[in-house]
Amino acid sequence: MATTVKDQLILNVLKEDQVPQNKITVVGVGAVGMACAIIILMKDLADELALVDVIEDKLKGEMMDLQYGSLFLKTPKIVSGKDYSVTANSKLIVITTGARQQEGENHLNLVQRNVNIFKFIIPNIVKYSPNCKLLIVSNPVDILTYVAWKLSGFPKNRVIGSGCNLDSAHFHYLMEERLGVHSSSYHGWVLGEHGDSSVPIWSGVNVAGVSLRNLYPALGIDADSENWKEVHKQVVESAYEVIKLKGYTSWAIGLSVADLAESIRKNLRRVHPIPTMIKGLYGINEDAFLSVPCVLGQNGISDVVKVNLNPDEASCLKKSADTLWGIQKEL
Ligand code: NAD
Repeated sequence: MATTVKDQLILNVLKEDQVPQNKITVVGVGAVGMACAIIILMKDLADELALVDVIEDKLKGEMMDLQYGSLFLKTPKIVSGKDYSVTANSKLIVITTGARQQEGENHLNLVQRNVNIFKFIIPNIVKYSPNCKLLIVSNPVDILTYVAWKLSGFPKNRVIGSGCNLDSAHFHYLMEERLGVHSSSYHGWVLGEHGDSSVPIWSGVNVAGVSLRNLYPALGIDADSENWKEVHKQVVESAYEVIKLKGYTSWAIGLSVADLAESIRKNLRRVHPIPTMIKGLYGINEDAFLSVPCVLGQNGISDVVKVNLNPDEASCLKKSADTLWGIQKEL
């Protein structure tokens, strides 16, 4: 009887159950989804990566392109499909689907278009990975994190948004440009809505524990001859500028999402500015998801750090919540 090359080469000693232990799915293989996927792969965060999209040719092409680079990766299985069965047994599902901003369009305009997409996606995800964590990236991210929480029926610790993780990173970068100290050496938080009404917490900005507000009380206020306010203005305007220049944003958000995925996968319990339900905090009485500093680990968000906001900051955060609630209650 003829034996195959494989039979001649390999003696099987164990019939293995091939259930992945650290599977990550990325839904949406557009600019953002593929940036998330490649950075998740480069950081070795998954033993299986699944991709889902509605455009089948592009989806298959992206999967094949990654598979052909397998030699350079440490993720042994990359799969894709339009059908959500390919996502089964995921630990983390990153959602980047949907309409993106056109030049000059703000995040909130996208809401209804993306809610309709979520009504289809979320129940399918829940069906195949009932214990996963959801990481929402699609905009408007705070509202869609709320929508995903509602549609999934998951406890709130397992529904996470990318929120202000990127806004804060950008804030750090712009501080670095001014002071010449690496981004990672600042504490500086941008909280609230990801986007136009985000709130820079100037009262907490420090380098090595030295408060910049104590050194310079005008930091971030209108009557500031050094115009630090501009730093936050640039954080808000940068996405619009990048979209104007290259048509979309991708690398920074991919890096930010992979950073969150790493905290979850490795149970790092790092503190990230990401949206969670903040009803009851800072005088907010609605079911609003807004970025506050959250402890992120293997179960998602386990704790929230209660920030001492000054009255101006608290009122800006409340305004952010009111803006979002105004839209959410119509959904
Ligand atoms: P894109 O158009 O390049 O990709 C979107 C992908 O979603 C497309 O491939 C499309 O086919 C797919 N899609 C649409 N409907 C789908 C469905 N029902 N099921 C599966 N896939 C579906 O857009 P992009 O530039 O990748 O942006 C994606 C989203 O990410 C947008 O909502 C954008 O605003 C958001 N975004 C968020 C941040 C953030 O900081 N949170 C940053 C950048 C972009």
